[in-house]
Amino acid sequence: MHSSYYNIIENAYRLTKALEDKGKLATYIPELANVDPSNFGIHTTNLDGTNFGVGDNLKKFSIQSIAKVLSLTLAYKILGEEIWERVDVEPSGTKFDSLLLLESYEGIPRNPFINSGAIVICDILMTHLNNAHKDFLDFVRDVSDLPDLTYSDKIADSEKAKGYRNTALCNFIKSFDNINNEPEDVLDFYFDMCSLEMNCQQLSKTFTFLANGGRKLDGKKIISKGKAKRINAIMLTCGFYDESGEFAFRVGLPGKSGVGGGIVALYPQQYTIAVWSPKLNPNGNSFKGMTLLEEVTTHSELSIF
Ligand code: GLN
Repeated sequence: MHSSYYNIIENAYRLTKALEDKGKLATYIPELANVDPSNFGIHTTNLDGTNFGVGDNLKKFSIQSIAKVLSLTLAYKILGEEIWERVDVEPSGTKFDSLLLLESYEGIPRNPFINSGAIVICDILMTHLNNAHKDFLDFVRDVSDLPDLTYSDKIADSEKAKGYRNTALCNFIKSFDNINNEPEDVLDFYFDMCSLEMNCQQLSKTFTFLANGGRKLDGKKIISKGKAKRINAIMLTCGFYDESGEFAFRVGLPGKSGVGGGIVALYPQQYTIAVWSPKLNPNGNSFKGMTLLEEVTTHSELSIF
């Protein structure tokens, strides 16, 4: 099974690489505008540990919003079901940084993967951890088996310098009493969280716990099976903002994107897959990344549908 699946990945990669890239780099974070847009990589990890990649699969990039899945995992583990009093689990139907629905829902973000929801999750972690910056990093180091992982100050500072929208979101939510810490501190942590860098191989390995009922490949429990199921459900319904339906329709896997051009997706009990192509479509998702994943699941017939 492996070699034919790997052939499909290689062919899909070559085919998609040759296509015209209709996406655009995310320039609102100045550091991300400096990335070479021709980078293109893919890597898959099977739950038996075997893995395979093509292209720029070993080059690090800014995982941005993909880290929101890991912050949700830690906050959900700490707070349990109470967490859903602070953030909902519905698709937003709006852009990732939209302020629109916060007014209607009185400061309760629609889900934890849009910026407003992830900012509330950061607030929860700030309240419940001694040192959110350090403790979250330690958690991700453990989940990823990357003991040397650090935040990128360069990317975090660059985003902070132009972080007007996220600042607006955080202040607006605080006006509804759904942020307990100082907005400036919550945002500093949020920018740090978004600044993590990994390559496709590392990203696909990191997400294996969610394909494996909450356990890492070495058996270590990260989160319960029931919670892993729910996180996967939110990835399927909300992982791509206003394009979550389209991603389910074209690719058919739970996943999460980031404005650095990365996408990670997974097939429960089978495999994870990470792609990277920096140019984004108008919804803020990697243009070629989505096409590549669509090719892979269409030709391999390995999707949840
Ligand atoms: N750090 C980014 C922001 O807040 C994350 C957004 C994303 O990756 N979609 O805008």
